[in-house]
Amino acid sequence: MQTAELLKNQTIKFIEVDSRKVISPSQTLFVALSGQKTDGHHYISELYKQGCRSFLCQKGKVNFDAFPEAVFYEVEDTLVSFQELIQDHRQRFTYPVIGITGSNGKTIIKEWLYTLLEEDFRVVKSPKSYNSQIGVPLSVWQMKPVHEIGIFEAGVSKKGEMLNLQKMIQPTTGIFTNIGQAHGEGFSSMKEKVEEKASLFKDSSCVIYCKDHQLVDDVLNNQIHLSWSTTNPTADFYFELESKSESGTTFYYSEDDIKLSFPFADQASLENAFHCVITLKHLGYKWEVIQQKLPLLKGIPMRFSLKEGRNNCLVVDDTYNNDLAGLSMAIDFLHTHSAGKIKAVVFSDFLEHQIPSKELYLNFTSLLKQKGVERVVGIGDMTFKNQSFFTDFESQFFPTTEDFLLKLSKSTVFKDEAILVKGGRSFAFEKVVKFLEQRVHGTSLEINMEAIAHNLMVYRSLLKPSTKIMVMVKALSYGSGSHEVASLLQYHLVDYLGVAYTDEGVHLRENGIRTPIMVLNPSSASFDKMLKYQLEPEIPSFYWFDQLISFIESNYSEIESYLPFKIQLNFDTGMRRLGFEKSELPKLIEKLNKYEKWIEVTSAFTHLAGADEALHEEFTLNQITTFKEMANDLEGSLGYTVIKHALNSAGIGRYTEHQLDMVRLGIGLYGVDVNGFNQERLRPVSRLVTSISQIKHIKKGETVGYGRKGIAHQDMQIATIDIGYADGFDRRFSGGVGQVKVADTIVPIIGNVCMDMSMIDVTDLNVQVGDEVVIFGNDPHIIDLAKSIGTIPYEILTNVSQRVKRVYHSE
Ligand SMILES: *Cc1c(COP(=O)(O)O)cnc(C)c1O
Repeated sequence: MQTAELLKNQTIKFIEVDSRKVISPSQTLFVALSGQKTDGHHYISELYKQGCRSFLCQKGKVNFDAFPEAVFYEVEDTLVSFQELIQDHRQRFTYPVIGITGSNGKTIIKEWLYTLLEEDFRVVKSPKSYNSQIGVPLSVWQMKPVHEIGIFEAGVSKKGEMLNLQKMIQPTTGIFTNIGQAHGEGFSSMKEKVEEKASLFKDSSCVIYCKDHQLVDDVLNNQIHLSWSTTNPTADFYFELESKSESGTTFYYSEDDIKLSFPFADQASLENAFHCVITLKHLGYKWEVIQQKLPLLKGIPMRFSLKEGRNNCLVVDDTYNNDLAGLSMAIDFLHTHSAGKIKAVVFSDFLEHQIPSKELYLNFTSLLKQKGVERVVGIGDMTFKNQSFFTDFESQFFPTTEDFLLKLSKSTVFKDEAILVKGGRSFAFEKVVKFLEQRVHGTSLEINMEAIAHNLMVYRSLLKPSTKIMVMVKALSYGSGSHEVASLLQYHLVDYLGVAYTDEGVHLRENGIRTPIMVLNPSSASFDKMLKYQLEPEIPSFYWFDQLISFIESNYSEIESYLPFKIQLNFDTGMRRLGFEKSELPKLIEKLNKYEKWIEVTSAFTHLAGADEALHEEFTLNQITTFKEMANDLEGSLGYTVIKHALNSAGIGRYTEHQLDMVRLGIGLYGVDVNGFNQERLRPVSRLVTSISQIKHIKKGETVGYGRKGIAHQDMQIATIDIGYADGFDRRFSGGVGQVKVADTIVPIIGNVCMDMSMIDVTDLNVQVGDEVVIFGNDPHIIDLAKSIGTIPYEILTNVSQRVKRVYHSE
């Protein structure tokens, strides 16, 4: 196939292999892959209906007549051609690319390197653990001219696979993480496995690895390399242990007389971190800078994530795979974080089928004993059969995950324990984690990070590629949590963030956000912070302009090096809230010219008062025209151009042609399209959930709650739930106005909403204490909830109080 021809097709911005993920059909090339379970060719007609016009398909599989407007690229093998296409795409870029392979730690090293480098480079990296024959091309496709460095991971399960991945990634620098103890089914020996993996680096100019892994060293030693070790002085970098405590570890590198302190002590994290350190060194970083960056590694979600569980348990979630090498690292991690708790391990069958089970289980149990694990739960047929090896532990065994969940979920069997959950993918241990995490009490706001990224893409697809996007993250990102959402937006290269107050901006800066930030409400006391944290205030009037000038005058000698002060001008064209009026423009220009050395205008904007309703169209267009005139005058006199912006979320949908240089996206990102044009394409971002704390049966005529407002017109079953107006559940939901979802059924609130609790009608439903109750999510939807009490979704979202725990997840 002529993949080059495909690359010339300018309309193709996205490539998808999963029809459910297509969000901008007209700009997407759909690659129809024939898998064991599904065949992508079956989805072509559905995608065609949605507007998809470019398909990569297998010869003879599609009847073209049915899709007259589509372009089909017909090939022998769609996966092979997809990979070739990506090889060609890769050729367009000359910036450095880091390739990572090995048995454990690929994803975490990639994420850590990203965190360490993003301050200095525009980084493109594999999403999640996209490291397979399909994941790699999807990852590499994301390389764009704006990036400056790429980080991709590669994983193989049998001989001959790596070469494909190598051709697509073409790493200039390589990292070989480590090698598991077993060679797995796809390889005849460990050596073969290492050689296969190492072939990723055949054209790399340098490969980084730990010299302690003998086989890796044997294979990579004759290539240009940087090896490291904490035990072997012959490595290129030899680090000596200086001190170790619960919270951190320090190493000494005598060659340069330098100390490195890591914010953790477990072996697995240290190994991953050293790979990152050497990579930074290879990229030319000074030791001092590397030292300063290491604390950043604390608290980044990693493959082992640590969660609070019910009954005061801690849960270490490592549900990716199960082999002995990985297990040893995970138990180390458990050990580091289990202070004062009993250690327990929930595990599945192993993948190491070729090791005799006796040897395998003896190794395993001795590892468990060595690390002080007292309790085990084994799941899977093979484990079930080998129960006799575990007589030294408190133990339980189940043939399947379902069995475990059914038998255990009726009673609370873990208490004050640190539990490692480690299982092969096919055992679906994420269900086990979910079960252990569930708390009997508590209300939480779950934020779906993938939905945010998706919604951002939806709005991006409406705009010209050159139009910048400012995302409003004021009021804690409309209630969703500030720096967590901001980090995601920074990763997706949003151009600006907008906050309401200086402190919100400072909080973002202190949490690693470097995207430019506008502050909507300036205050004289905070100009100093704004300057130092590089926050750009909105200046809406002469009062604030003069305040700013007098701040600069009185602090000139201290702040001189930070000047000019960057500001954003607000022009009032009809909102009648904040902003300079047209008549004030000449005087403003005069002042700006006078203080041009001190003040730099980065942008000028206006805010639309009625972009959400068609009836205000004439008014809105007038606002836009006035704004354009004002901006034009401003630029003419300043002698430089500024970023001009007017549209909020509603405006992006209705007045797309007036997108100017930038738009300000707010509520749309959080899944609500105010004027409904794109609501279908958006996904709800947050889900507010609580649980049942008590169930009661009441007789006809009894009353419920304060003021005896709820009246039973028949015998009823009611449930008390853990949410009240102090959590942000509005008192106006009292007396049946509000509805919640429990046991897949929508039920009404009965009586008055209390401060911390509410009562619901669950007559005829089979419910139990601890059951989840959905306040809003897919259903009920916040749009309907807001309507029922005569308010707007903005208020419902931002009212969720700070005491409600925020939980972030990607599907
Ligand atoms: C909040 C805000 C926005 C975003 O509004 P949405 O309706 O949420 O899109 C845009 N501009 C300014 C000035 C704002 O204060």
